[in-house]
Amino acid sequence: MECTTQASACFQRNAEHVASHRCTVAEHRWVNDRYKYLRLSAEADLAGATRPGQFYQLKCPATSDLQPFLLRPMSVYGVGPEAGTIEFLYNVTGVGTHALSALPVGGTMDIVGPLGNTFVLEPGFTRIMVVARGVGLATMAPLLQHAARAGVAVTAVMSARTPGDLMRDEFLRGVPADVHCVYDSDGSSSVEALEVLLRGLLQARHHDVAYTCGSHRVLMLLQRLLQDHPQTRGEVAMEQRMACGMGVCLSCVRMFDKGGDKQFLRVCREGPVFPIHEVVGEVEFG
Ligand SMILES: Cc1cc2nc3c(=O)[nH]c(=O)nc-3n(C[C@H](O)[C@H](O)[C@H](O)COP(=O)(O)OP(=O)(O)OC[C@H]3O[C@@H](n4cnc5c(N)ncnc54)[C@H](O)[C@@H]3O)c2cc1C
Repeated sequence: MECTTQASACFQRNAEHVASHRCTVAEHRWVNDRYKYLRLSAEADLAGATRPGQFYQLKCPATSDLQPFLLRPMSVYGVGPEAGTIEFLYNVTGVGTHALSALPVGGTMDIVGPLGNTFVLEPGFTRIMVVARGVGLATMAPLLQHAARAGVAVTAVMSARTPGDLMRDEFLRGVPADVHCVYDSDGSSSVEALEVLLRGLLQARHHDVAYTCGSHRVLMLLQRLLQDHPQTRGEVAMEQRMACGMGVCLSCVRMFDKGGDKQFLRVCREGPVFPIHEVVGEVEFG
């Protein structure tokens, strides 16, 4: 997953590669009792064109009892190890992902992408913070790889229901990091406890940017905390239910605050990565 050190280049949509791609399943296995790892063989240049934060629309195959209609959005979890392979890490949750979980090694699947924008990792960054929960882990894992290659230090805060749900190794994938784990099972992931932890980490040393994905309450907490740290930017990869994934159907619009100007933006097209301070938490219609 090459991403140039030029921020502007990193933010490109590499739209020239967006297309439907027929892929072959190179590897497909359970990681724990809820998540599966999927590695697809694609055309040689596709993996290299995919940037951290981007996603594909997966055409989950129909089975005898499951007929998913819409394509399902999945972040790219990584690329490699061979040239031309793209990795996904997904929660087996509903019709589409249950059907997907039955796909055999050697089978084929169509994917559309790469879609959406990317996280920004600028030259000159020295330390970043990532706060991940649930499927957010899959979305942010490539960012850690990219930071490590660029020599940027990482503070990783991981949140999960229990230690068994954490997937620490799957997230870090060998990247050295200052890791802090919090759990629902012992109360350490509550907003109150997490606020104490994040405040301490943000005060202890400078972070150029804090990224998050996977939890609305963590997003809103970070939005509040970063107001006291104007030198630390914030970015969130939003997970909004979406249909087409290409900006046409408008099913994934959300309201954002662009410097006082409230705008509805498409998570699939203008996002999925947005500045944390632009997210509008509660929308009142009235
Ligand atoms: C840009 C983007 C990237 C994503 N990346 C990943 C990823 O890397 N790994 C992963 O496991 N999941 C990811 N998701 C969520 C994933 O798309 C949904 O879990 C999936 O579409 C569910 O399909 P399903 O048919 O199995 O479930 P459904 O039967 O459609 O729904 C089952 C459950 O999943 C929830 N759900 C459905 N669609 C979404 C959605 N778009 N976002 C959040 N929750 C949803 C539903 O509310 C319901 O609780 C991503 C979503 C987006 C928008």
